Amino acid sequence: MGRFDYLNETLEQLKKANLFRSLRSIDSPQGCIVRVEGAEKNIFCSNNYLGLANHPQVIQAVLEAARQYGYGAAASRLISGTMRPHIELEERLADFLYKEAALVFPAGWMANEAVIRTIPQKGDIVLLDKLDHASIIDAAGGCQAEFRTYRRDRPEKLEKLLCEKKYRRKFIITESIFSMDGNAADLKALVELKNKYGAFLIVDEAHAFGCLGKNGAGLAEELGLLEEIDVVVATMSKAVGATGGVVAGEKKVIEFLINKARSFIYTTSPSPVNCAAAMAALEIIKTETHRRSRLKENADYLRGRLEKLGLNIGQSRSHIIPVIIGTEEDTLAAAEELYNRGFFIVAIRPPTVPAGTARLRISIQSEHTKGQLDDLCDTFAELIAGGILPVLSSRTT
Ligand SMILES: *Cc1c(COP(=O)(O)O)cnc(C)c1O
Repeated sequence: MGRFDYLNETLEQLKKANLFRSLRSIDSPQGCIVRVEGAEKNIFCSNNYLGLANHPQVIQAVLEAARQYGYGAAASRLISGTMRPHIELEERLADFLYKEAALVFPAGWMANEAVIRTIPQKGDIVLLDKLDHASIIDAAGGCQAEFRTYRRDRPEKLEKLLCEKKYRRKFIITESIFSMDGNAADLKALVELKNKYGAFLIVDEAHAFGCLGKNGAGLAEELGLLEEIDVVVATMSKAVGATGGVVAGEKKVIEFLINKARSFIYTTSPSPVNCAAAMAALEIIKTETHRRSRLKENADYLRGRLEKLGLNIGQSRSHIIPVIIGTEEDTLAAAEELYNRGFFIVAIRPPTVPAGTARLRISIQSEHTKGQLDDLCDTFAELIAGGILPVLSSRTT
């Protein structure tokens, strides 16, 4: 009997329900093909959307920064952990997002926590999309304001909540490209609502940052709405290929976070080397626009083919494409079969997605070749023929 045996029951329950999770280790850089457990796999589940995690210019910047600054930042930002690369990166991010100021965090998770736990206050209400990321939902649970969720397909409910007179300020918080569905928030409608009711709009561009918009600033830039967004949250952990979160907005907001946000104050400053990597990646994002075009071409092509196969890809319009299967068991079986055939795509299960909508979540990279996409589709076709993957009856051909 071990002292932690009381944990067994939950672990066993998870296993029985096909909800147990474990780690898989990669033994190569994060490219389009990775080495896992001694074999090469075509990877379709990383967020290295633009191939920057391993870009030679990024590696060069990392080496130079390590020589100049060493690796560790050695203290929290407010003590002595603020170094030139942090400030420089924040200035560049503010410019990139057309905001007065920006603040960098060790993770996007912490950036959301900082904003949501400090900016909305007692007497305010926070309105969240029901499918917002866990970092948003959890932060809202711990903030001083009340919070409610709305469904994207029922904007009337959101409008009704915005009409409520009893709240002092109203904050709408949404992802721009939803992480598990790959569909987009109707930012134009949200901006109209925000203006009609004098609300604040906070947008988490985690999966759009680097990937959408003329310069790569995200969905709001693509729609010409960047200036309407009061606070932009993004991450450098996905398309940027480094790690860390960012908040951009008015200088006052940033000063407030520096003074009040516990997830900023009580954690060690991220490595200056990481900031240098992010800066190098931002330059590539701005200048190598063909990466963005290729990402879109690849995603459009794959969505078209998967739809033709009759697979349920939900409302995806981006480089994130769910193949919705339903039960955990079927989804795990499909992922395992794909893995054995050389494709690394993870089964996404509740609570990450709603019950009954377990799925394979495909994320496309700009550097995926057409051959890789075709191989994936051929394999999907085989799994459909083998009865391992279900198709939508209305679309069955
Ligand atoms: C990944 C993600 C985050 C967290 O970012 P990290 O830098 O990985 O901590 C926040 N919001 C959304 C929507 C995400 O998908």
